Amino acid sequence: MPTVAGVEVEGRHWIGGERVSSTRTFEDVSPIDEQVIAEIARGGADEAAEAVRAAHAAFPAWARTTREERARLLHAIADGVERRLERLAGVETTDNGALLRSHLRGVMPRVAHNFRFFADHLLGLGHDDFETRGHRNHVSWDPAGVCALITPWNAPLMLATWKIAPALAAGNTVVLKPAEWTPLTASLLADITVEAGLPDGVFNVVQGYGQEAGAALVADPRVKRVSFTGSVPTAQRIAAAVAPNLTPMSLELGGKSPLIVFADADLDLAVDLAVEQYDNAGQVCLAGTRLLVEEPIAEEFTARFLAKAGALVQGDPRDPATDIGPNIHRKHVDRVDGFVRRALDAGAKPLIGGGPNTDLGGLYYRPTLLTGAAPGSEILTEEVFGPVLTLQTFRTEDEAVDEANGTRFGLAATLATGSPERAERVSARLVAGTVWVNCFFVRDLRAPFGGARHSGVGREGGDWSFDFYCDVKNTVTAPWAR
Ligand code: NAD
Repeated sequence: MPTVAGVEVEGRHWIGGERVSSTRTFEDVSPIDEQVIAEIARGGADEAAEAVRAAHAAFPAWARTTREERARLLHAIADGVERRLERLAGVETTDNGALLRSHLRGVMPRVAHNFRFFADHLLGLGHDDFETRGHRNHVSWDPAGVCALITPWNAPLMLATWKIAPALAAGNTVVLKPAEWTPLTASLLADITVEAGLPDGVFNVVQGYGQEAGAALVADPRVKRVSFTGSVPTAQRIAAAVAPNLTPMSLELGGKSPLIVFADADLDLAVDLAVEQYDNAGQVCLAGTRLLVEEPIAEEFTARFLAKAGALVQGDPRDPATDIGPNIHRKHVDRVDGFVRRALDAGAKPLIGGGPNTDLGGLYYRPTLLTGAAPGSEILTEEVFGPVLTLQTFRTEDEAVDEANGTRFGLAATLATGSPERAERVSARLVAGTVWVNCFFVRDLRAPFGGARHSGVGREGGDWSFDFYCDVKNTVTAPWAR
């Protein structure tokens, strides 16, 4: 078995409580130095079908467990995650290049929290009975069956466990297909579920490429829910694949979110919020990549932004001094750079950055701020998913709202303003699943999460997750004869 960040990692699938090989493998490459770190089983239709079969077979017994039993097992998984926090953080950083300090302090503790939250939420899940002409209405959340979960590479274990935890809590069995660029922590999670005592077949992992393993998985008629986080084109393929079976889908997709800075904002806070959008080298679906700044303060805002962004340290994500690491993959960096090159060719100007960091080489892209992009051009309307922000100015609140809402996306929006009345007025007019006022990335699992327009279908979090992962049933009982 290969060792990554000092941890033995298993490259085979996890199906029905066993490690399963494929005849073919693919190479997993670390974005830190583009070295191959593991050979991973390349699953296809056979492995997907086998995993669904195992999950289908395990479903009836798992669905019959009590809420308390499932909650206890989810807490046991959280315990296992907490015991391995450093190992999981080290492997994830090597696999996807995000900062080790973020994985240690924020991301991996939240992975454990995902299990604890949904375990506890399950125990409180319920709706008061109500009467209709003496008839009692009783609402229940029945497990749906096998759930296919398809996840991206930008926050691999974090995003996978947002789905795994509620799906299991609800009494479903799961087949996870992690992104091919970051297969490792899903494999480590399989070992944690064994240690926690999860029955065989309840949680399965199929490794492989999206168009092979993923496509076969979502099209399987035995799958009763598909939950997907990733890009719009893949979501469109998945929607077409599930159509014959009418499998309910949850889609968490991309964004082109605005960060609107009004002249009455606390400027230091606004600048901090803006520079924060470079987190994870810009590979955050929620990132407010379009800086919309009210004209009178634009110059001052820009000067302060450039000073702060210019001081960011780019380098090895394992170094605690690093603020920005590499982007995920050569193909992805070329894509990011393509957006920037086309914007520059069309007349945009880089105020900072504008290309790869040649001092570091490899996949390190300089934090970039572009100004003067043509209205409606792709750099202002399409998701780049790299450390690339744009700057635009506005004169009136109406102009700001129009520009903010002017893309096909609607994932999030951030406002910086000193006026509560303005915050309320503008928030109400924004098309977004989440609006942050004078803050960013504050996320409570009780809250609904999702996107409007092409940013998604459905909501996850709290009751919304259970509504999706369950067949919600209403039982109406007539008065009993006395
Ligand atoms: P992607 O769509 O390329 O891949 C996502 C997953 O889908 C991968 O596991 C991939 O193997 C799989 N896949 C690809 N083709 C498939 C098919 N035909 N059938 C089934 N599965 C298939 O996305 P990505 O590049 O991995 O992730 C980046 C995207 O994800 C960005 O657009 C980003 O905004 C979005 N994202 C959204 C959220 C959110 O919560 N809204 C969170 C993180 C990332």
